[in-house]
Amino acid sequence: MSARILVVDDVPANVKLLEARLSAEYFDVMTASNGAEALAISRRAECDIILLDVMMPDMDGFEVCRRLKSDPATHHIPVVMVTALDSPADRNRGLEAGADDFLTKPVSDVVLIARVRSLTRLKMMTDELRMRAITSLEIGMQAPERSAVADTGKGGRILLVDDRESSYERLATILAAEHTVDVEPNPTEALFHAAEGNYDLLIVSLDLNNFDGLRLCSQARSLERTRHVPILAIAEPENSTRLLRGLEIGVNDYLLRPIDKTELLARARTQIRRRRYTDHLRDNVQNSIEMAITDALTGLHNRRYMESHLATLAEQAATRGKPLALMILDIDYFKSINDNYGHDAGDDVLREFAVRVRKSIRGIDLACRYGGEEFVIVMPETDLHVAGMVAERLRRSIAGEPFAIHKGTKRIEVTISIGLTTLEQKGEAVADVLKRADTALYRAKHDGRNRVVSQAA
Ligand code: GH3
Ligand code: MG
Ligand code: MG
Repeated sequence: MSARILVVDDVPANVKLLEARLSAEYFDVMTASNGAEALAISRRAECDIILLDVMMPDMDGFEVCRRLKSDPATHHIPVVMVTALDSPADRNRGLEAGADDFLTKPVSDVVLIARVRSLTRLKMMTDELRMRAITSLEIGMQAPERSAVADTGKGGRILLVDDRESSYERLATILAAEHTVDVEPNPTEALFHAAEGNYDLLIVSLDLNNFDGLRLCSQARSLERTRHVPILAIAEPENSTRLLRGLEIGVNDYLLRPIDKTELLARARTQIRRRRYTDHLRDNVQNSIEMAITDALTGLHNRRYMESHLATLAEQAATRGKPLALMILDIDYFKSINDNYGHDAGDDVLREFAVRVRKSIRGIDLACRYGGEEFVIVMPETDLHVAGMVAERLRRSIAGEPFAIHKGTKRIEVTISIGLTTLEQKGEAVADVLKRADTALYRAKHDGRNRVVSQAA
């Protein structure tokens, strides 16, 4: 996994050192010698992770970080502050500015590479989601960046897994100032608890009695319901090598005991903000997938989806030797409904029609809006005889009950014509099946409408 790392430092020797170490691990390295240059490179989306020196003339690292994190174009790029000072106050200033982590000079190779690898994984995942979510932006959905930049990271739901009472009581009290906290002192219950609870953050102690906290972290990563929940690990300093192992298996961040209150809160907020942002992106992707296959007016599948899915259904039917029925439904004299009552009334009829269709078919049947007032229903494992009964029931459900229009103040009669056929065995082309159903529909219209015509294969 190659990522582009931007190293920002005003001292050329420092830049060279980090560049050499990262290049040895096959990362692509870019460099900048001041804040303005770093901001310009980041805005052009040319880097995946930023290693940022704190002390620089003109604009210091804190300011650069603040600007990166408040710009919708760059807020998602992980920033690691590289600092010569390692007081809690310094770390907290950086965390407040939105930094994702700290490395203290001189930078340890192992820690540097573990951190960069873990942030690379995160960045790749976010990029993938961002790319897919762009589609939903193009079709007018809200940009997740805007709420992400404004999110304080407070008000999260946290599960704290820690079996030492003195420890979890202190941590829970600190966290409760900004979040809702549940404590799970029994590590064997923790995974279940995490999966049930819809948490924004798991905080896991790695100093558990007779239990490997990393195992819990790795299980949480592989379980569907918890795989996207960030994990913050907590450990005694002598356990710090296990923390690096943790980063490899998907722990997002860690803290060493004794825990500094402000730092704990800042790191929790960072993880929660990130979780909300990626969730938001994921929802957007889900929505755009649904929008791409759904007809907006009726909520039925659209033609594109039907055409691609019909081929799959036809193949399945052929290989399993099962029948497959297909009908085309067309509303009779629909144009005159528009002409007499207006386009909105026509839309009301289409919507109500879709509701009645859904009530008349099974879950495995596929209903779609094929065109203006034309619909297609595909019914797996259904022969012509049974499909004929379904079609007749549908026809009656439309003709038998007038449709409400003009906000329910008026009711009008609507009828439909249906052309019905089945798939011939041995892989008949889908287009031919549709054509046969269309011919049957034409006959239904021609014979006087409000009727079902079946055409055997
Ligand atoms: P037939 O009985 O032969 O099917 O006659 P028809 O009037 O239903 O058929 P025709 O194809 O002549 O007219 C269909 C009309 O459907 C024309 C078009 O303006 C209207 N239409 C297509 N899409 C929509 C829509 O989304 N909303 C509304 N209100 N009308 C639509
Ligand atoms: Mg019509
Ligand atoms: Mg028509």
